[in-house]
Amino acid sequence: MNIHEYQAKEILRSYGVSVPNGRVAFTVDEAVEAAKALGTPVCVVKAQIHAGGRGKAGGVKVAKSLEEVRTYASELLGKVLVTHQTGPEGKEVKRLLIEEGCDIQKEYYIGLVVDRATSRVVLMGSEEGGTEIEEVAAKTPEKIFKEYIDPAVGLQAFQARRLAFNINIPKQLVNQAVKFMMGLYQVFVDKDCSIAEINPLVVTGDGKVMALDAKLNFDSNALYRHPDILEYRDLDEEDPKEIEASKYDLNYIALDGNIGCMVNGAGLAMATMDIIKYYGGEPANFLDVGGGASEEKVTEAFKIILSDPNVKGIFVNIFGGIMKCDVIASGIVAATKQVGLTLPLVVRLEGTNVELGKTILEESGLNITAAESMADGAQKIVELVR
Ligand code: ADP
Ligand code: MG
Repeated sequence: MNIHEYQAKEILRSYGVSVPNGRVAFTVDEAVEAAKALGTPVCVVKAQIHAGGRGKAGGVKVAKSLEEVRTYASELLGKVLVTHQTGPEGKEVKRLLIEEGCDIQKEYYIGLVVDRATSRVVLMGSEEGGTEIEEVAAKTPEKIFKEYIDPAVGLQAFQARRLAFNINIPKQLVNQAVKFMMGLYQVFVDKDCSIAEINPLVVTGDGKVMALDAKLNFDSNALYRHPDILEYRDLDEEDPKEIEASKYDLNYIALDGNIGCMVNGAGLAMATMDIIKYYGGEPANFLDVGGGASEEKVTEAFKIILSDPNVKGIFVNIFGGIMKCDVIASGIVAATKQVGLTLPLVVRLEGTNVELGKTILEESGLNITAAESMADGAQKIVELVR
């Protein structure tokens, strides 16, 4: 789960990790009020969306007076911001962070992620902050330094110090930087983060080390033990189809293609997307209805697929193990009765109660193309949506 920058900064602040003073604003008046309360000569008006690259896209504005705060806030609120992370459709700005302006001497990068290769949390740092770290990694990988953290003892001060020296934090500020990194690591572990990224970390004119930007991602599987983090969830930032799917405990991820997929099992769902692409099609979603899905769950899954206007055809690929083919078939029939079906539908059923499942589909009178195998089904649906 993703949260907003201002929320991430709240968490960091509560751990003693230094961030600039700031307040969230939902309206232009609130933005002006927030700037007044800050009372600093320079304020920064920052669009709050779940995506980076706001600076380059005009989503971060420096205001030198309350009038400027008003102007920028009214420009940004309601605006659809397109950054390199939002995709071409962009994201509408509904919240702003009004923050004190910082006298930046230099921008650095600090990040924590889980490294799959070593099964450890890795602390990364670079002197090339502010820019896209992906670009630094691609062009000048030698400018990124890493410290692998032993889970038994956690981040050690000597590691943080070594990183601070490697990225050339001024000597007199190294201790501050170490404290910063230790605090950030504590947040990462305590809150079950999957990413903690500070870009930029800055050194200011008056000798402070602080986070000017903050991105925290949380492991969804651990959210049950963090009700405080769940409070930060912003449904406006999520795909409505994915929200609907989460209500029914369906693993659904919307994609850009036009072939809707209904599959049971994450592995089979991945393989289905692969084989569709192999035959020249594009999947519209990843959907795993799970092992023991009920008819109701299958019905909802089908409705969610159909609610995507990009979907031009549906491929149902089920291997009935725990899941029974007749349950899937009844779900499909129930859903199409509720919402109607004009799109081509290819079904491949295999496994438990397959004959019963096929009979239910045949007797439903629906226009269904039966597939003999996964490959056959993929080819047929690709052909039909063409
Ligand atoms: P994004 O990563 O989405 O572009 P950032 O929060 O990193 O957004 O802001 C982009 C740039 O704006 C920063 O690299 C920094 O130069 C500037 N900036 C952001 N916040 C402040 C602030 N409080 N004071 C001064 N400059 C800021
Ligand atoms: Mg940034």
